[in-house]
Amino acid sequence: MIEAVPVSAASDTPAEDTEGVRVRVHPGLCEGWGNCHRFAPDVYPLDEEGHIAIHLLDVPAEQAPQARLGAIACPEHAISVIGPPGPARPTPPQRRHPDTPGTPAG
Ligand code: SF4
Repeated sequence: MIEAVPVSAASDTPAEDTEGVRVRVHPGLCEGWGNCHRFAPDVYPLDEEGHIAIHLLDVPAEQAPQARLGAIACPEHAISVIGPPGPARPTPPQRRHPDTPGTPAG
């Protein structure tokens, strides 16, 4: 059986974000172009020298499109949209050295 695909899903228009995103900034790459702030002033603050002033940020769904746009606009690729906000991400298992006290033998 063939499923019908809504017209909007087949278009080039990005779907509306229904959840927020987590953004990571790489300050060492920032050259102070300001494009991120220009396209998303409510998401990306700049410091007094025009460099981005955040490292890690959880952006709500209503600002997620602007966050993506600001990241794409950065000519230095200093901004990565890395996924949903922190609480929604699974926590990786803790690794312990076998000599750490309390580690079961085996
Ligand atoms: S667009 Fe990129 S290089 Fe420019 S201020 Fe923003 S993070 Fe820095």
